[in-house]
Amino acid sequence: MTAPTSAPDSASSAAPNILLIYTGGTIGMIEDAHTGALVPFDLSHLMENVPKIGRLGYHISHEQFNPPIDSSNMNPAHWKALATMIADAYDTYDAFVVLHGTDTMAYTASALSFMLKNLAKPVIITGSQLPIGEIREDGTENLITALQIAAARDASGAPRVQEVAISFGRHLWRGNRSTKVSSTNFGAFRSFNFPSLADMDLHITYHDKFLLHPEPSAAFKLEAAMDDAVGVIWLYPGITENVLRAQLENEQAKGFVLRTFGAGNAPTESWFTRALADAVKAGKLIVNVTQCPAGGVEEKRYATGDALAQAGVVSGYDMTCEAALTKMMHLFGQGLAAADVAQQMQVALAGELTRP
Ligand code: ASP
Repeated sequence: MTAPTSAPDSASSAAPNILLIYTGGTIGMIEDAHTGALVPFDLSHLMENVPKIGRLGYHISHEQFNPPIDSSNMNPAHWKALATMIADAYDTYDAFVVLHGTDTMAYTASALSFMLKNLAKPVIITGSQLPIGEIREDGTENLITALQIAAARDASGAPRVQEVAISFGRHLWRGNRSTKVSSTNFGAFRSFNFPSLADMDLHITYHDKFLLHPEPSAAFKLEAAMDDAVGVIWLYPGITENVLRAQLENEQAKGFVLRTFGAGNAPTESWFTRALADAVKAGKLIVNVTQCPAGGVEEKRYATGDALAQAGVVSGYDMTCEAALTKMMHLFGQGLAAADVAQQMQVALAGELTRP
């Protein structure tokens, strides 16, 4: 990672101090002259391509992953590096903007929301569908808007946004409620179970009642340890006992997110419920999250869901899979026992779930 560059001379001392962190992704990519494939380029080129940034009048310093990566290569070690970069610079800067590939942006946003405890400053993540160096692209607007949101203050002078959020296209979404919904649309993200935090049209309109605020007395702290001994099991009609048990009985795994049907339903055949009950008895945590993009788990609604609850499967309510998985990694990473992780999975730690 490179050292931060100095702030632009034109910015006044009252201007916000923003740390821009470039991790990689399409926003900063350029076509390789020989292969035609998109490859990441250096952040200084990105800044050259967006001279308008200077007109904002902010103090902007930057750091970057070295080398920048396609977000398909992101893993918990990268999340830890990113969260640590933010925590180390927390007192120096007013706000943080992270440039990130769209493919796994929702996972990173979710992971950061659990790692950066009692956040009182904006961490705004953005990227783009087309590289900033192209003639027609969405990266310039996404970057400028993310910087403006990061710089926004309320009437008392406090940061308007005090959480990890994804700013993309026309909306600002809570990071741990977001999901990538399109590989082509300029509105690549949606949060199906929570309203937008702001909408970007002619004006940026904030929906203050949905914004998170930390406990005033709680100090910011970094909890970056993640345990990757977890997994996701996706149900489908025709899943067999062998396939299911091969996953559940993996000795390395401590817990699973179970992607169920509809309101949290699954087959009621006895081999199925027995396989889950056996895994729970063996100490594994299984959290029920629906495959539906919108809505959540209501285990008692149908007998098919109730059977899961009887087997010891825990409801993930309306959490996204991205949030449930990274939350489980985070909680096991803090050294909690499965029973405590189970209890915490059902409590909102960073606005990631709503209990009915
Ligand atoms: N593959 C790219 C990435 O996620 C796609 C993007 O940036 O939109 O890094």
